[in-house]
Amino acid sequence: MWEDIFQAIDEQYTKMVETRRYLHQYPEVSFHEEKTARFIVNTYEKLGIPYESHVGGNGVIAKLEGGKPGKTVALRADFDALPIQELNDVPYKSKNDGAMHACGHDGHTAALLGLAEALLPYQQDIPGTVIFLHQHAEEYAPGGAKPMIESGALKQVDAVFGTHLWVNTPTGVIQTSKGPFMAGADRFEITIQGKGGHGAQPHQTKDAVVIASQLVTSLQQVVSRRVDPLKTAVLTVGTFEAGTTFNIIADSAKLTGTVRTFDSEVQDLIIDEMEKIIKGTCTGYDADYDFLYEKGYPPVVNHIEEADLVLQHAHKSDASLRTEEVEPVMAGEDFAYYLLERPGAFYFTGAQIPDHYYPHHHPKFDFDEKALPHAAKSLFQAYISYQEKNHS
Ligand code: MN
Repeated sequence: MWEDIFQAIDEQYTKMVETRRYLHQYPEVSFHEEKTARFIVNTYEKLGIPYESHVGGNGVIAKLEGGKPGKTVALRADFDALPIQELNDVPYKSKNDGAMHACGHDGHTAALLGLAEALLPYQQDIPGTVIFLHQHAEEYAPGGAKPMIESGALKQVDAVFGTHLWVNTPTGVIQTSKGPFMAGADRFEITIQGKGGHGAQPHQTKDAVVIASQLVTSLQQVVSRRVDPLKTAVLTVGTFEAGTTFNIIADSAKLTGTVRTFDSEVQDLIIDEMEKIIKGTCTGYDADYDFLYEKGYPPVVNHIEEADLVLQHAHKSDASLRTEEVEPVMAGEDFAYYLLERPGAFYFTGAQIPDHYYPHHHPKFDFDEKALPHAAKSLFQAYISYQEKNHS
């Protein structure tokens, strides 16, 4: 019987591509996904599957109660886009200026909606209850997962699974890890207040460009010289803003960046060391500073048994799928919050277009649409595997 369902999911392929391309043309950035949410709601409305909208913001939750007893398992797809101008020249190019689905969340949504439609005729054969968890605002902290959970998204949910279409992985490969899988992602902002002046009279100034430049290089030593080499962390300075014109010494400078870690001890150490370096450098130049550190999403830590279900069984949903247990990656995800509340696992569904590789968040990002049914089938396989394992 599961074969029939997996075949029904495959038959949704054209529809999934159509949905994905529609969403791709009308991307909405985090916390502004009203039309996308309405599109999702309309789909469930047409299917006659009960749903709840405005869950913790723009979130939507639909519920398919199977005809057989079993557990309640949530399958999550996020649906927000990024503030990026698309540079792809494709028929489904973004029509919303300055917004782009550059992370594949259009695909996550298309796959989950396709899965819902495929499962509907088999409702009576399905054990337990499928929760289709459509989450808004993954890309922008504090994110959509937390408010959705606070609004009861996981109420009566026993376990939760989610996948990310991943262009760093070839199509046909499913990857995850048992334990830490994705990093905690923090954001920092350093403002240096020096003293501006004439470009020809540096001795009368406190040059914010020089101080900030020093900081950019000194901060590289936090991970290389302070963090235990057997632990992992990343510290990246992403922006450096200063100055007005070529012959004026900048009064102030602003640096922003991100820190990624897998445990809170390393995270605390990094914050501490950053503070020391910033303080030391600015004191040395007799300048003032402001250091703002925002802890972002916690690390995504998979539950071992549920991650194992994905690794052991994903291929049963599609003979062409291969699974790989991998090292954690430094990207962050607010799926982390679900895993702090319920057992579950997050995994990557390979979606690389061989001759068009641009990383996630790149203005030329695109993914292999053949991976859409892989995502849907592997999610449903995780659902069944969880039911079978926890059958009472
Ligand atoms: Mn993403």
